[in-house]
Amino acid sequence: MKTINLSEVREKIREIVQKANFELQDDTLTVVKEMEAKEESPAGKSVFQQMLENAKVAKEEKLGLCQDTGLAIFFVELGEDVQLNKDDGLGSLKEAITEGTRLGYEEGYLRKSVVEDPIRRKNTGDNTPAYIHWELEPGDAFKVTFVAKGGGAENMSQIRMFAPAAGQDGIENFVVETVDTAGSNPCPPMVVGVGVGGNFEYSALLAKKALLRRPLGSQNPDPFYADMEKRLLERINNLGIGPQGMGGRCTALAVHVESFPCHIASMPAAVNIQCHSHRVLSFEL
Ligand code: SF4
Repeated sequence: MKTINLSEVREKIREIVQKANFELQDDTLTVVKEMEAKEESPAGKSVFQQMLENAKVAKEEKLGLCQDTGLAIFFVELGEDVQLNKDDGLGSLKEAITEGTRLGYEEGYLRKSVVEDPIRRKNTGDNTPAYIHWELEPGDAFKVTFVAKGGGAENMSQIRMFAPAAGQDGIENFVVETVDTAGSNPCPPMVVGVGVGGNFEYSALLAKKALLRRPLGSQNPDPFYADMEKRLLERINNLGIGPQGMGGRCTALAVHVESFPCHIASMPAAVNIQCHSHRVLSFEL
C-alpha cells in the first residue's frame, strides 16, 4: 500500500499546469523542428520559425505559449493500492486537483477560460472546474497527465457513428474530411487524435487519449494502426492547408490512433484535434 498526501498532489498540479503552459515539451519540439526543416512553403517555414521563437520566449519569460490557456483536462491513473492522506484541509483527490488548477492558473497569470453555464456564459473566474477522467487500476501506480485544451482546436473535433460496412476507408476518409473542414481554425500544424471503437462517448474519450498516450510522433505499437497513422498523416499533409493555413506540406505534426472493442453493429469514430500549442505534461507519485 502506498500513501500519497493530497497536498503533494495539489502542489504538483499547481506546478505542471504552469510548466505545460510555458514550455513545449521535447517530443513536440523535436517534431516541430523536423517539420520546419521539411516545409517547402516559405510562408509555412516562417510560421514554424515564429512558433519556435514563441516557444523560446514563453519558456524564458514564463509566459503562456498561447493566450488561450485552455480547459484544464486531467487523466488520472489511480492504483487500487494507493491510500490518499487527506492533509492540509483537502477532503478528496478531486478537491486537490481542483485546488492545484485554481492556484496554478492564478499564480501563472494564465487566462481563465471556463464559463459556469454553456448558455448563460458567466466566467467561473479561476479556470475550474478541472475536467478529470479517472482510470482505476490494480497496483499502486499514481500518474496524472494534464493537457491544456484550447477552444479553437476543440471546436473542430467531430464524432460519427459508422455502420461496420463503412470499413477502414470510411474512417480514414472521415478523419481527412474533418481536418480539411477545420482548415486554419485549429491553428495548424495540428495533432490529430483518432478514437476508433468503443461506443458513442467512449470513442470521443479515446480520441482525446490518443493525443497524450504516447510521445508525439511515436509509432503505434500495433503495426495495423501504425500503417493507418502513417497513411493518414501523409493524406492530411497533402491537403496543402499548411502552418496556420498559410499553405504548405505540414498541416499535422502527428496522427495518433487509439482503438477499443465495440458492438457488432457499430463502428464509432471520433477525431479530437489539438493545435500546434500541444501542452501536455505528466507526473507520477
Ligand atoms: S487553437 Fe491552440 S494555438 Fe490556436 S488560439 Fe487556441 S490554444 Fe491557441
